[in-house]
Amino acid sequence: MVKKEEILDILNKYDKDITIATLGSHTALHILKGAKLEGFSTLCITVKGRDIPYKRFGVADKFLYVDNFKDIAKEEVQEKLREMNSIIIPHGSFIAYCGLDNIENNFLVPMFGNRKILRWEAERNLEGKLLKEANLRIPKRFKPEEIDRTVIVKFPGARGGRGYFIANSKEDYYKKINLLKEKGLIDDKDAENAHIEEYVVGTNFCLHFFYSPLKDEVELLGIDRRYESNIDGLVRIPAKDQLDIDISASYVITGNIPVVIRESLLPEVFNMGDKLVEAAKKIVPPGIIGPFCLQTLCTENLELIVFEMSARIDGGTNSFMNGSPYSFLYSGEPLSMGQRIAREIKLALKLNRLEEIIS
Ligand code: ATP
Repeated sequence: MVKKEEILDILNKYDKDITIATLGSHTALHILKGAKLEGFSTLCITVKGRDIPYKRFGVADKFLYVDNFKDIAKEEVQEKLREMNSIIIPHGSFIAYCGLDNIENNFLVPMFGNRKILRWEAERNLEGKLLKEANLRIPKRFKPEEIDRTVIVKFPGARGGRGYFIANSKEDYYKKINLLKEKGLIDDKDAENAHIEEYVVGTNFCLHFFYSPLKDEVELLGIDRRYESNIDGLVRIPAKDQLDIDISASYVITGNIPVVIRESLLPEVFNMGDKLVEAAKKIVPPGIIGPFCLQTLCTENLELIVFEMSARIDGGTNSFMNGSPYSFLYSGEPLSMGQRIAREIKLALKLNRLEEIIS
């Protein structure tokens, strides 16, 4: 694991002009825009062709070109990032391309947040442990023989909902698993590691929080719901026609829609955010720093069931680049998650407390 002292040594060598850097993908637009609005210099790590949005929207002061996104872990790239006094903001794509092993052991660039917690959201078993420790409601899990209701079946690794399927019984489950194997879409190992959980019939709310260690406070900055293919197209086909066509549903996220939750649910929403922050402090000290997300389904009994979490900025924050109804309530201005991160770094610099929010 990268040692905190090594990172602090690097930070001590930085001069005052910090650069906020991230990989040009995922949530980079508002991370960089937010940093610029807070007066930081910004850097987009990119490959030819993928730089277009960051150029066209003018959110990056500097570009660092690599041949392949995977090269961000290379020593020479790290060296350049350090030369520019960079603080990296990790997001889903950054983590995927840099790789958790590299982030944990080789990536010697100061990073906003707690790099140790990233594995806890990436691996389903660790994620489940953290959610349980936080005492949050999660979908009931099943072994194939136990299936007694509608379940959703997920496979290991971040597949973005690809290949997930619904089953209504043990027999249905095995039939569909065998079909996927026959088509070569999964192998025996995938089948063994299939994660089977109760299909929660409810409405989707992805809750975007920010925990400020400097203020010791959990803020709710926005909520989105997911726009998924092909399921959101499939449900536009009348039921009787659906039965005639042979299309399996998939849950690939293609977009995000901003949403607000009924106001009477907000006490519970804050309670859930607080509980996760407390649990993370215990299990992966110093815990969550900055953005995190709880992906929930709200049942007709108004219970919020958490089916997934992110312990870093989540893609759904793109739904409020110009602020959300909730972030507006804090500052009376259109605050994005990216700008909130930059604001925390700015405050830490002012208070000389950067080491509390960096790893
Ligand atoms: P990502 O990590 O990119 O968010 P993922 O591959 O981990 O995606 P999930 O977020 O677990 O996938 O699920 C994708 C979608 O599947 C959800 O947005 C939701 O529509 C549906 N889904 C997942 N779990 C459940 C559940 N228990 N009940 C009902 N629907 C679910």
